[in-house]
Amino acid sequence: MHLRLRQEILTKIYQLYDDFIKDYKLACGIKCSACCTLNVMLTGLEAYRILDQIITDKRDDLLQKLQASTKEERFQPLVSTNEMADLCSQGKNPPEEGVESLLSSCPLLEDKVCSVYENRPFECRSFCSKVNCEEEGMADMDRLVMTVNNVFKQYIEHIDSFGVSGNLIDLMLYLHETGNTEVYLAIGKEAQKPLLSNHPAKVLMVPPEHADKVKPIVEELQRIKIN
Ligand code: SF4
Ligand code: SF4
Repeated sequence: MHLRLRQEILTKIYQLYDDFIKDYKLACGIKCSACCTLNVMLTGLEAYRILDQIITDKRDDLLQKLQASTKEERFQPLVSTNEMADLCSQGKNPPEEGVESLLSSCPLLEDKVCSVYENRPFECRSFCSKVNCEEEGMADMDRLVMTVNNVFKQYIEHIDSFGVSGNLIDLMLYLHETGNTEVYLAIGKEAQKPLLSNHPAKVLMVPPEHADKVKPIVEELQRIKIN
């Protein structure tokens, strides 16, 4: 599917999620940024959108900050969300993932505000808490919201299933390297470590107790059409 169409679908997925989450009472605010760390995972489709904004805005300084962050340890996933779902559905254990550098800030954060807020990836949109993480020391996420988040992440990977996923820093810099965006747009290439190849969603990670509530959301996702 052409990139423009996938981007339109991504916009509608983000809108659908905003509609879902608006009914929850959350502690999250515009300058609340304790969750903005180096450990963000996203798809190439989302990274492309952010990179497009950075290039349009001529924010070379943000690219330099991303480059400088490569010296720091960060979460580099070993399996994609849909691979994880496949492994779980087969009763297999996913590989152990190391989560590091929880305290270092995302290089796209400026004065406690996201510099690409309108185009921030789904993981940032969906990381929300009922309590202030800074005050309480950790987030308190509703279990249904966690399930719905996984479903949305699976769909986003699904529409980018010939693309790649990875840590925000690695993926942004990969796409920015000469020629790699063209490779990404051409689709069908194997990802090089630390990036991962995306996969289609074959089975959704929905526990039985959430099935009824998630069903209409899945139906809405399936109804998303391009104008
Ligand atoms: S998840 Fe926590 S740190 Fe992030 S915006 Fe919400 S309350 Fe703030
Ligand atoms: S992309 Fe924006 S919202 Fe996401 S972690 Fe970085 S600064 Fe925070």
